[in-house]
Amino acid sequence: MRLDNIGFHYGKEWSLMGIDLSLRSGEILGILGPNGSGKSTLLKIMDGIINPIEGEISIDNRPFRDIKRSEFARQVAMVAQENHFRFSFTAAEVALMGRYPHLRRLQFEGIRDMEIAFNALKSTQTLHLADRSIHDLSEGEKQRVFIARALAQEPRIILLDEPTSFLDLKFKREIFMLISTLCREKDISVALVSHDIDLTAQYCHRVVMLKNGQVHAEGPPDEVITVANIEKVYECPVTVDMNPTSGRPRVSII
Ligand code: ADP
Ligand code: MG
Repeated sequence: MRLDNIGFHYGKEWSLMGIDLSLRSGEILGILGPNGSGKSTLLKIMDGIINPIEGEISIDNRPFRDIKRSEFARQVAMVAQENHFRFSFTAAEVALMGRYPHLRRLQFEGIRDMEIAFNALKSTQTLHLADRSIHDLSEGEKQRVFIARALAQEPRIILLDEPTSFLDLKFKREIFMLISTLCREKDISVALVSHDIDLTAQYCHRVVMLKNGQVHAEGPPDEVITVANIEKVYECPVTVDMNPTSGRPRVSII
């Protein structure tokens, strides 16, 4: 996916400006930045939910506007920050929703769709939750079911908006490990927004740091996650050293 000089505003103020970015095949791209820096807006543009006001966005050199929504959904899946269901769907039904872009109009899901949905639950270790209502699951379990729904879509690209925000350490790690495995084994490219800078450093191949709707820095984790960049972008004093196990940068707030 390629973004060329993307700009967007909701009201008068620009929420994104001059964004040049690419998501490469098979990579995990981490998107960092403080609250309100434009991360979710960027992800929504990458998901085609909102159209850029300036610039162009394309997959395989095909502009988004030339790709039909149903075809697009077979390429790109989103795990949004908030997922509200008014109806008490089961985990299996939520995963099965991922098959929707593959169905023809008024067509019901078939055995193959069920198989794909159940395999997606299996890959995210939520198969045992298949019959449980989505409302009754823990945050970690829910997040894994939403990733299963994205997987059932069989996309080439998965976008995730703060997938680990409400999770404890173990579940944060598990989600990052799951994303890493999916990327490696299913050749899916991932762009994820996170406030977990250390885990982003550890699991992402490349990182982009946003400030006021613009790219402040972009590159491998050890080039982007530096004291200078973090203090400038997050306006918070920190030290950065190296995680002795992963060799990736590690941030401590002073
Ligand atoms: P982040 O995800 O980094 O916290 P957002 O992309 O949500 O940032 O927001 C970027 C900017 O756009 C903020 O200034 C925010 O107030 C504004 N914004 C986001 N969504 C809307 C909206 N629906 N209507 C108006 N302004 C919005
Ligand atoms: Mg956001």
